[in-house]
Amino acid sequence: MNQGIIPTTEAVYKLIQEFNKLPGIGPKSAQRLTYYLLRAPEEQAKLLADALLSVKQKVMLCSICFNVTESNPCRICLSDERDHSQICIVEQPQDILALEHTRIYNGLYHVLHGAISPTEGVGADDIRIKELMNRLQDGSVNEVILATNPNLEGEQTAMYLNKLISPLGIRVTRLARGLPFGTELEYADDVTLTRAIEGRQEF
Ligand SMILES: [Zn+2]
Repeated sequence: MNQGIIPTTEAVYKLIQEFNKLPGIGPKSAQRLTYYLLRAPEEQAKLLADALLSVKQKVMLCSICFNVTESNPCRICLSDERDHSQICIVEQPQDILALEHTRIYNGLYHVLHGAISPTEGVGADDIRIKELMNRLQDGSVNEVILATNPNLEGEQTAMYLNKLISPLGIRVTRLARGLPFGTELEYADDVTLTRAIEGRQEF
């Protein structure tokens, strides 16, 4: 942080620093949030602190799909109303939020927690691919939808998965190209995402 703007107290400085560590929050926004909370009622600060601790203490990963959940297995994996013959593969839990928002997909999910990226040293063993392959062993899945991001890492990961999965006799599809290349799924709008799911193609 800029040395010229050290605030008056250590507590204030500390909070600015913590906000500044968050993605998308620069020094200016960190200061704005800190001074906002200084003026806000203590109750509001308490609610924020509780919410922060809760996500760390109560939230875990589903042992089947690796989505974030407060009960294991998660509600989607346990639901009788979901189609258990379809699994949609995503990179991050927040991608599920985007896909669920469209209400068009009713199957299950699998969160890889990353994408294969040789340049960043992320290999197939570093993401949840082994766990995915285990899920596909019992023959109950007919279709795997590859919904990795439409960027270089996402495409590499999709190609790798297709090579592993298609020999099992499972239909492998990829989201339609309506999504602009280089974007991330979580930022796609509902209409584009709905079209991408409906227009999914054989890999
Ligand atoms: Zn689950």
